[in-house]
Amino acid sequence: MSETTMNGGCMCGAVRYEARGESFGINHCHCHSCRKHNGAAVVTLAGYKADQVSFSGKERKIYESSPGVVRAFCGDCGTPLTWEGDGGELGHIFEFHISTFDEPEKLVPTGHAFDLERIAWFDIADDLPRYESFPECGPVLRHGPVKEGLPKG
Ligand SMILES: [Zn+2]
Ligand SMILES: [Zn+2]
Repeated sequence: MSETTMNGGCMCGAVRYEARGESFGINHCHCHSCRKHNGAAVVTLAGYKADQVSFSGKERKIYESSPGVVRAFCGDCGTPLTWEGDGGELGHIFEFHISTFDEPEKLVPTGHAFDLERIAWFDIADDLPRYESFPECGPVLRHGPVKEGLPKG
């Protein structure tokens, strides 16, 4: 495992975090809950195990979006920061919204999660696998964007 340490935080700088070592997965997520929490058409998340993560500065605010799953944000500026919950055999996990890292370009996505919930008019011209739900759960619906069937403006 590399010694890479990634730092990040909210827009106002009150909440800061550190993620040590390699992320176990970096994915775009098209699910309805992520979109709601971020006000975005799609979000991109980098996952880390609990022992790789530490927070500093102000305490992050916690919102329980479903039983056992929380989403954290800065109580001062409102920046959405994480998805936190049970990662199965990974234990407790933290998925950080990569736009809150200081150097997000270092975290390169490898797939698209919850493609079934993707907004119909939104797609990206990459060739990454599109998963029906979580990448670990499969199945892959296709690689690359939809070729036809996009709504016409
Ligand atoms: Zn803040
Ligand atoms: Zn999601």
